[in-house]
Amino acid sequence: MATKDISREKSAQLFEKAKNYFPGGVNSPVRAFKSVYGSPLFIERGDGSRLWDADNNEFIDFCCSWGPLILGHNNPEIREAVQAQLGKGLSFGAPTRLENELADLILTHNKYIEKIRFVSSGTEAVMSAIRLARGYTNRSKIVKFEGCYHGHSDSLLVKAGSGLVTFGETSSAGVPKAFADETIVIALNDKEALEKVFSDFKDQIATVIIEGIPANNGLLIQDKEYIQFLRKITKDNGALLIFDEVITGFRLGFEGAAKYYDIQPDILTYGKIIGGGMPVGAYGASSEIMSNISPDGNVYQAGTLSGNPVAMAAGIAALRILSQPGFYEKLEQTTQAFVNEIQSFITEKQLDVKIFTVGSIFWFAFATSERIQRADQIDPNSMLYYKKMHRELLNRGIYFGPSGYEVGFISAAHTEADLATALAAIKDSLLIAFE
Ligand code: PLP
Repeated sequence: MATKDISREKSAQLFEKAKNYFPGGVNSPVRAFKSVYGSPLFIERGDGSRLWDADNNEFIDFCCSWGPLILGHNNPEIREAVQAQLGKGLSFGAPTRLENELADLILTHNKYIEKIRFVSSGTEAVMSAIRLARGYTNRSKIVKFEGCYHGHSDSLLVKAGSGLVTFGETSSAGVPKAFADETIVIALNDKEALEKVFSDFKDQIATVIIEGIPANNGLLIQDKEYIQFLRKITKDNGALLIFDEVITGFRLGFEGAAKYYDIQPDILTYGKIIGGGMPVGAYGASSEIMSNISPDGNVYQAGTLSGNPVAMAAGIAALRILSQPGFYEKLEQTTQAFVNEIQSFITEKQLDVKIFTVGSIFWFAFATSERIQRADQIDPNSMLYYKKMHRELLNRGIYFGPSGYEVGFISAAHTEADLATALAAIKDSLLIAFE
């Protein structure tokens, strides 16, 4: 049965004000609640698995700031590390011991990269990785996949249309056609499309970029065999393979999707978890490839706030916890048990929805019984079910991302009791979504 709507009065007032300041009232579009009911909830604070909004509604959070908060909100160790650093200054624009420490933590636990460069966001990490690939290969064209999001830099805001290969159709105004022409977009899980691209644009492709496990347009888990093919065809054609692990890095373990598929990409990009909730991104590769980055090489990339000491302190505290033995195993077991219970309920009630999962990530695919591996397998009309479920979940104190294309995350702060509460709410909400 539907429950009473939660009060959203204060959030609604704040949103009205915010609209005077920001386009659409937000500083990042997906926060605007455009594809779910109501207006955005303005968050006051978070602690552990919980969030509180301006109307003092309490939620168990499965959005986790879109992935970074694998340890939940306000983790005491991260908070203390940040507080300790705050007393020493916020930014120096000069190297610090903290950058070494975070790099050491990463590189000693990740055999896929030898050198790393810190930046301040995932977008910056990917943008720089693309420049590095172009500089290294001396080629211009890049290949990306429909449904993979890599941040908002010009070359990557290009989408696929119909047909095997769509060339140069931008998905944002303001991306010059000349830029878009350098980006080729193909469907995931389509070997022929890749072969065609490499034959049509022989010796012109600098890099193929893929999300480690695509998780921005549903959760599109690829077969190992396809990723191996991708590795081989890039190598055979002198193109670099970039794994964008902004979501999967440190979420599926320190070695992310590279280890999951047992594939050595040429460049890897990171973000989200690496900063413990503060703005940090990074890209890494072999020492040889990284030697092309300035000041060693001629691929320029810089940042006033790169390696920011407060952000580094947060990242170090987070990664120290994550590097403890058994951390990921436990989180994945918890997630698997949670997902299994939801799946059993779906099966028992014969609901037209499937739940996909990897590591501590999960996603509901409505109105399908297929294994979804490409963006075009998702029916936009199926999002109505998510919209309904989302409202019912909020009314029951469960916070999911405000779009059915977004995945959910389990954090180490989610207790068994939290998950039991969430499970009951999800069951009720699913039933209502299908009424
Ligand atoms: N790459 C991937 C795979 C992402 O999921 C995101 C953001 O969601 C980005 C890049 C961009 O990162 P940011 O939002 O930190 O710029």
